[in-house]
Amino acid sequence: MRTKIVAGNWKMNKNSSETTELLNQLQSKMPKTSAEVMVAPTFVNLAQAVTQLAASSIEVVAQNMHFAENGAYTGEISANMLQSVGIKTVILGHSERRAYFGEDDALLAKKVDAALKAGIRMIFCFGEELQDRKSGNHFKVVEAQLKNGLFHVGKAHWQHIVLAYEPVWAIGTGETASPEQAQEMHAFIRKTIATAYDETTAQMVTILYGGSVKPGNANEIFSKPDVDGGLIGGASLVAEDFAAIVAAI
Ligand code: PEP
Repeated sequence: MRTKIVAGNWKMNKNSSETTELLNQLQSKMPKTSAEVMVAPTFVNLAQAVTQLAASSIEVVAQNMHFAENGAYTGEISANMLQSVGIKTVILGHSERRAYFGEDDALLAKKVDAALKAGIRMIFCFGEELQDRKSGNHFKVVEAQLKNGLFHVGKAHWQHIVLAYEPVWAIGTGETASPEQAQEMHAFIRKTIATAYDETTAQMVTILYGGSVKPGNANEIFSKPDVDGGLIGGASLVAEDFAAIVAAI
């Protein structure tokens, strides 16, 4: 049985007091679940969120990290710095990092290595753009992102890896991949991992779907056999909506 996960990516939203308030609301509304529930506030609010959720089962995770252990990288944050405030999981390769901050597969491969070396679990994001899907290249693009960013790691490392398939055209657009499109891609991802590694590894890895998941569509998307949960953007900023999505898993 694979681990089910619902993770909320808050992006560049919520200041310190707003973070406290949203976490309070989430704690009071969160349904009982056997799934792992995570929230990713901004870097500056991670430490306070960890303290606030110390007695909660909701895990605080980071949205990004740098590949170096330390040094002259102004404005960046290392794995060790995250761990020093209680962070155990980091999101890597979000499409906004790829699109706005020039993170390519080669850079992400270094971040993957840094996370594994530090012993921090990752949610590795990837997904095709609209033109890739329209031209029928979506499988090729996704396969290349996995091969170039991730598939250099040894089999034993896959226990520290969660995947998040996020078609870029569905992120923050209100447009969602249909449950069938999500299932088709997730099954393809599992097949690609089985070919590169083996069937056991492919069956063990948790694969999240991300892209305009809302309370109204979560049930149907999560009901697909290869969809093990969601990475949620906009809807994770509204406690009722995020709680409803968690209930759907
Ligand atoms: C995301 O940013 O990872 C995401 C899935 O956003 P949204 O849910 O708003 O589409």
